[in-house]
Amino acid sequence: MIKNIFKNFVSKSATRPYPIEVRPGFKNARGELDNKVSECTLCGICAKKCPSQCITVSRKENLWELNPFACVYCGICVDACPKSCLVHYTEHKKPARVKTNLVLKKEISPKLKVVANA
Ligand code: SF4
Ligand code: SF4
Repeated sequence: MIKNIFKNFVSKSATRPYPIEVRPGFKNARGELDNKVSECTLCGICAKKCPSQCITVSRKENLWELNPFACVYCGICVDACPKSCLVHYTEHKKPARVKTNLVLKKEISPKLKVVANA
């Protein structure tokens, strides 16, 4: 036991002092979720498939919204998206003092707006 005490005393800590020292992202890690909204069709499949119901899609307002604090980072929405516009970064979301949703607005070109109104 004395041997273990001395060994632990001089060896490097097994844990990291997060967020001062952040573990680098690694291949296939499911970190922060984002949407390349310009490619999104606002079809709503991701919202329907999400087990946490943390995605909201409004075609009327051209909005795609994520509550990152309810997301369990399962990746189901990423796999289900027909446009492959959802992406998991390998790094996790930074710590925050205030809970905010990720709200992305899809800009519709004037030409498409005219077609939609016709
Ligand atoms: S499934 Fe993909 S294309 Fe459809 S609303 Fe979600 S992010 Fe957009
Ligand atoms: S990663 Fe999972 S929990 Fe998070 S938004 Fe996508 S489907 Fe929902």
